[in-house]
Amino acid sequence: MRAVAVFPGKCEVGLIGHETPEITAANQVKIRSLEVGVCGTDREICTFVYGSPPDGFDYLVLGHESLGQVVEVGSGVSRFKPGDLVVPSVRRPCPHAYCLACREDKQDFCYTGDFTERGIKMTHGFMTEFYVDEQKYLNGVPSELRDVAVLVEPLTVAEKGLAQVWRVQKRLPWVDPKTPAGHLGAGKNAVVLGAGPVGILGAMVLIVNGFKTYVYSRSKAPNPKSELVESVGAKYISCEVENPDQLAERVGNIDLVYEAVGTAKISYAVLRVLGLNGIYIFTGIPAPKPPMDLEADTIMRNLVLKNQVVVGTVNADREAFEGAIHDLGIFLKRWPTALRSLITGRYKIDQYRDLLLGKATGIKNVIVLT
Ligand SMILES: [Zn+2]
Ligand SMILES: [Zn+2]
Repeated sequence: MRAVAVFPGKCEVGLIGHETPEITAANQVKIRSLEVGVCGTDREICTFVYGSPPDGFDYLVLGHESLGQVVEVGSGVSRFKPGDLVVPSVRRPCPHAYCLACREDKQDFCYTGDFTERGIKMTHGFMTEFYVDEQKYLNGVPSELRDVAVLVEPLTVAEKGLAQVWRVQKRLPWVDPKTPAGHLGAGKNAVVLGAGPVGILGAMVLIVNGFKTYVYSRSKAPNPKSELVESVGAKYISCEVENPDQLAERVGNIDLVYEAVGTAKISYAVLRVLGLNGIYIFTGIPAPKPPMDLEADTIMRNLVLKNQVVVGTVNADREAFEGAIHDLGIFLKRWPTALRSLITGRYKIDQYRDLLLGKATGIKNVIVLT
C-alpha cells in the first residue's frame, strides 16, 4: 500500500510502498485511513530536525492527525466494530516498570522519554491506507462528525491545556461557586496567542466554556483568520497594531493566556501583562534561537505578587480526546460554517510534496486517502 515516509538518513521524503499491517493480537483493530491532517510538526520532520524511524526501518511513515474507519477487529475487541469511525491518540507508553505515568495510561506525562509517537517518534504514522492499533488508543467518533473529525487531534491541545487550568486554579477561589457547570470561564478574560488551527480551535473551546476571548496574532485585520475568529465571537487583535500593554488595557485583567504561536518573543511579552491570579499555558515548541532580551525582573515580580502560574503542556490523554470529540459536536452545531472553513484544502496523497515541503498556506490542509 502507499505511504508518505521520511528517510532521515538520506534526508528524503517520498511516496513509498509500505507493507499492509495485519491484526496480530486479540486487542488490535485494523483501520482504513480516511483523512490525515498536515501540520507544522510534519513539516518540521521533513526538515529532518527530529522524527525517527521504528527499529529495523530506515524510514518513518508520517502522519499523526488521523480519522479512520474500522475494517476488522481482533477477538478481544469489545468497543469497536467494522464501519465505526475512530481517531487514534498519538503517544504510546515507554516500556519501563518504574514509569509511574506510563503504567497508569498517562504517557502524556512519561518520566523516561522512552515513549514512542505515531508518525513522529519510532512508530509509523497514519499517512497511509491502513494501520493497526490497540483498541485502548482509539476514540470512537459519531458519524455526524465525519467531515470535521480530522480536527480532533489538534483540538486535544486546548482540551488538555484547559484541563490543566481547572486543576491548577482549584488552589484558589477562581470560579464563582454559582457558575453553572460547563460555563466555568464566565466572567473571565482569555487571550489566545496565534491564529493557526491550534489557536482558533483553542479560542472556540474557551468561548464554549464562557471566557471572553481575544485572539492576538500578527497579521493586520481584516484577513481570513481574523474574520473567522470574529465570526465565532472572539475579538481579533493584531500585535502590529496594539502592543501587549495596549492589549492588556483593552482586555482588563488577563485571567488566562493560551499560547499557540510557537515563538518566545511575543509569548514572553504577553506573559509580562498576565493578570492577577492569572494562568499561562504554553503549547508551542520553538526552534532553538540565540538568547534574547527579556523583562525578567518584571515577569518574576509579577509571578510572585500576582499569584501567577505558567504551565507547559504536551500531548494529550484519553480524556482530552473524548473532550475534543464532544466539543467538536458543539462547535458543529454552533458554528457549522466557521468550523468547516478551518479545513482549507483536501488533497490526494500524491500531492504530499507541496503540502509538506512547499510554502505553508491556508489553515488546516488534509490528505484524503479514499
Ligand atoms: Zn499535528
Ligand atoms: Zn514512561
